[in-house]
Amino acid sequence: MVTGVNEFSEIEHFSIDWRKKFYGKPLAVLFPKDVNEVSCLITLVNRTAGLSIVPQGGNTGLAGGATPNNEGNQLIISLKRLNLVRAVDFFNRTLIAEAGCTLIELQKVIEKSKLYFPLDFSSRNSASLGGLLATNAGGLSVLKYGTAKDCCLGLEVVLPNGEIWNGLKTLRKDNSGYSLKDLFIGSEGTLGVITAASMRLFSPVEEKYTYFVKTPNLASAIELFGQICHKTQDNILAFEFMEKNAIDLVTRHFPERVPHFIKQDTNYVSCIVEFPATYQKEGCNINSLSEVFLNKRICSYQKKCSEKEGKEVWCLRESITFASAKDGPQVKNDISLPISKIPDFVKHITRKFNQLYPDGSFINFGHIGDGNLHFNFAPFFNKVLTKGKAAETADFLQNKEETIRGLINDAVVLYDGSITAEHGIGRLRKSENVRLKSDVELEMMRKIKHSLDPKNILNPEILF
Ligand SMILES: Cc1cc2nc3c(=O)[nH]c(=O)nc-3n(C[C@H](O)[C@H](O)[C@H](O)COP(=O)(O)OP(=O)(O)OC[C@H]3O[C@@H](n4cnc5c(N)ncnc54)[C@H](O)[C@@H]3O)c2cc1C
Repeated sequence: MVTGVNEFSEIEHFSIDWRKKFYGKPLAVLFPKDVNEVSCLITLVNRTAGLSIVPQGGNTGLAGGATPNNEGNQLIISLKRLNLVRAVDFFNRTLIAEAGCTLIELQKVIEKSKLYFPLDFSSRNSASLGGLLATNAGGLSVLKYGTAKDCCLGLEVVLPNGEIWNGLKTLRKDNSGYSLKDLFIGSEGTLGVITAASMRLFSPVEEKYTYFVKTPNLASAIELFGQICHKTQDNILAFEFMEKNAIDLVTRHFPERVPHFIKQDTNYVSCIVEFPATYQKEGCNINSLSEVFLNKRICSYQKKCSEKEGKEVWCLRESITFASAKDGPQVKNDISLPISKIPDFVKHITRKFNQLYPDGSFINFGHIGDGNLHFNFAPFFNKVLTKGKAAETADFLQNKEETIRGLINDAVVLYDGSITAEHGIGRLRKSENVRLKSDVELEMMRKIKHSLDPKNILNPEILF
């Protein structure tokens, strides 16, 4: 009934997180093939003292939530074999699919039905439907379609006692009591194992316009975003940003992925702005949009990209995470802030860090339209090191990472933000979550966990 690990690949593949920061030793990796097998496995674990379960999808999570501990008492349940698309309903504009389907598989299947699956990000080849719901993932299209939570209509979940909850409704409106699905979305595998989900689908945007824009600084990028929202009546598909260091990182590791028209001469902020073409074709405010782009104070350069150039700028944007991984260890942050407070936050923390860690730099990029900064700190970004950057940085961070993370998170709280916008808490941010959440919040979360999972068998070592 349950397939052993050898049939798939080395056990290490499942025991190390994507960033290679967390290593675990699972007792076994199990590959159930359907919801009933997941239920049997969880029931068995429930009856066996001392064991617990770590659910795993594509293992692309960036918070270490899918990595087991080192004690050999945790079983990974991989959802890879639950990969059926059960239904696509064109008129209801919904999909029901199993948790192990990858993002790219879903995108392809749905494209054939002339519909569009709204979630997208660069780990699409491996990230699974269950994982993106368990982390309430965001990505590149949140401005128009929202996060995984906004796109989900129902769930099928195996509870910690082995019971199966079939909540696979495909309704836009359902006010019959507590919204139980929302408890599981973003719970990072601590409350139940998601085995299938019903999701909203949309009509594809057939034609879009992609602009590459340079703006003098973050404050002007935010003003540009606000003005474009206003002029287009919020008709924007994406508004992403990259500071100079982020592009420098791609230039360092993948120079062929930096389009020729992006010269890194000065310290501007680069943005990718995307609209549906219908917006301009219908003539709505096209002139007023030009006015925004012609305002040199907030837009020093703009280029309407051809289809090929559009793909190139997105490739550059998506390459930052891969270039970061090659560059060596950094203190990775995935923060969100009220958009209007971003410039003051960045000024505040940069000033502080320039004094404390003058060799370091922030690599700042992300989804500025969602207030979500990937605000990573590289302690020796601009310094040539004798021993090799990766080794020396790792040594440095062994002692300093917690302090650095703490300083950044204190500032996040000061500016009314959140320490994670879309990657989640996992193992990486557990201690900071406990340090910074109020007692009232933590107590409510613990009570919810205890009422669903009194034996603490589902992913017990993460979150709090
Ligand atoms: C290059 C790169 C780019 C990325 N870009 C983005 C981005 O733009 N936006 C974004 O939000 N994220 C991004 N991510 C993070 C990651 O891809 C997403 O969080 C993704 O949704 C995780 O899916 P997964 O299947 O790999 O989950 P995993 O890594 O396997 O698991 C993540 C968490 O979910 C739990 N889990 C997994 N499956 C289930 C299940 N079926 N039931 C219950 N719990 C489960 C695990 O226990 C773990 O806590 C990126 C990652 C990479 C490597």
